[in-house]
Amino acid sequence: MSITDNIQKIKKETDQLQVQLIAISKTKPLEDIKEAYDAGQRAFGENQVQELVEKHEALPKDIEWHMVGHLQTNKVKYIASFITLIHSVDSLKLLKEINKQALKNNRIIDCLLQIHIADEETKFGLDYDEVIELLRSDELADLQNVRVIGLMGIATNTDREKVIREEFYELKTLFNGIKDSFFRKEDSFREVSMGMSSDYKIAIEQGSTMIRLGSTIFGSR
Ligand SMILES: *Cc1c(COP(=O)(O)O)cnc(C)c1O
Repeated sequence: MSITDNIQKIKKETDQLQVQLIAISKTKPLEDIKEAYDAGQRAFGENQVQELVEKHEALPKDIEWHMVGHLQTNKVKYIASFITLIHSVDSLKLLKEINKQALKNNRIIDCLLQIHIADEETKFGLDYDEVIELLRSDELADLQNVRVIGLMGIATNTDREKVIREEFYELKTLFNGIKDSFFRKEDSFREVSMGMSSDYKIAIEQGSTMIRLGSTIFGSR
């Protein structure tokens, strides 16, 4: 199956659903992204700032770029002028830096708070108590150039569907709770970015609004 075939297949699967496909193109060459682009795909995600910047420069300007990997504070400045959505915000410090760079570029940058849902030490993200503390902080209210539009999570890398299902269920439940407590009047707070190639069907079943697919589209890395 070609990249075009893969995209069309996923589009068909998600046709009637309110879920956006983010094509994760990390490590893949420009030609592969171009093929996906020609198949109609516009939202692409990367996990390294340098690669993101290079691809943004080389490819059509109507591509929406998403940052899905761990973002260091000192690198925000390189992507602030063009990034569509940062999925991986995991501290107030990072949010403040995004705000500062967004202000310099005279724009508002949309962000998701990455929640640590996996049963693994190595994955980045905020714990439940940390996200609540961040949302309650007075400093957050002062950040006029960032907009928190939802949550993101990465499930445990396991074959046990029940474990994955529970983690996605918990993320969606947390989203609903945060929505009610902090964003009730903000329609923009509505995204739950969850689901990768191995688990996106479970994620959709649990209420994902954005699936991040790499190998399902581009083949293995
Ligand atoms: C690489 C990556 C993906 C896509 O992974 P696949 O298993 O290839 O679909 C999704 N989300 C994040 C954060 C990633 O780093």
